[in-house]
Amino acid sequence: MKSIFESLRKTRNAVFGQIASLLGTGDLTEETWEELEALLLQGDVGVETTQALLGKLRQRVKAEGIIRAQELRRLLREEILALLPEPQPLNLNWPLAVILIVGVNGSGKTTSIAKLAAMLQRQGRRVLLAAGDTFRAAAIDQLKVWGERVGVPVITGPAGGDPSAVTFDALEAAQARHLDTVIVDTAGRLHTQHNLMAELEKIRRVIARRVAWAPHEVLLVLDATTGQNGLLQAKQFMAAVKVTGIILAKLDGSARGGMVLAIGQQLGLPVRFVGTGEGVEDFAPFDREAFVEGLLGQG
Ligand code: GDP
Repeated sequence: MKSIFESLRKTRNAVFGQIASLLGTGDLTEETWEELEALLLQGDVGVETTQALLGKLRQRVKAEGIIRAQELRRLLREEILALLPEPQPLNLNWPLAVILIVGVNGSGKTTSIAKLAAMLQRQGRRVLLAAGDTFRAAAIDQLKVWGERVGVPVITGPAGGDPSAVTFDALEAAQARHLDTVIVDTAGRLHTQHNLMAELEKIRRVIARRVAWAPHEVLLVLDATTGQNGLLQAKQFMAAVKVTGIILAKLDGSARGGMVLAIGQQLGLPVRFVGTGEGVEDFAPFDREAFVEGLLGQG
């Protein structure tokens, strides 16, 4: 399993590693600020979050009377950490915990579901998957294959069928088999945004009616290689359903890990897990300190 530090290699090599040399010896000049701004923008932090971060840093530099560029490194670390909401452990302390997974096709949704299922199983939970993405026949098959691979049952319905019905069946099956966790896959795209919203709402209602306080988590899978575009996607899903956290897939394949800062600052959502490779074990709980270390380099 790759570490978060290793997974950030591309992001670090592409842009963020240059911050260390920019904030080396010498005094902090207007040029330093400009270059820092350019690097943050290049690193997919986004305009809004870059401005917020620089504003904070300028304030602190003034208040703390900092003149050397090197001292800004410590402040940058602290302020990046401050942008990232603390990821709480998943809220799964229920007789039957229900996790709804949303996100567009291709983002790494199926793989992330399998990874999450395997991780929860290793922690002693008894997991069942619901193939709620009935919009694509391939999605159902793919989830079945992953289910077999990680050894968890998958409840499916016909392609083109009603995802709420599959979800209902899955909850019933989990209760009958005395399992404690259901992970529900959902469609990544429908004909219109309106349909997608209506469908997610319907699934949510079916779950809420059947299980108290459920869904207990709604995790949005984002593809780390999409950078700022991923933020727009996230906002669409957030308008459809109450998202409780992000799974950031493909961090290892992305040079755009800087988008995590924008996820925290603009969406106010914690990244709960990151995908660090294609294997089922390549999945890590998000660790803010490890992330900042991996972004800026050690020390
Ligand atoms: P879905 O269409 O959203 O269900 O996406 P899939 O789960 O099928 O993933 C799409 C592609 O991304 C597949 O080739 C996966 O192997 C790959 N993938 C998913 N997660 C990761 C990850 O964390 N790292 C890497 N390198 N590849 C990933």
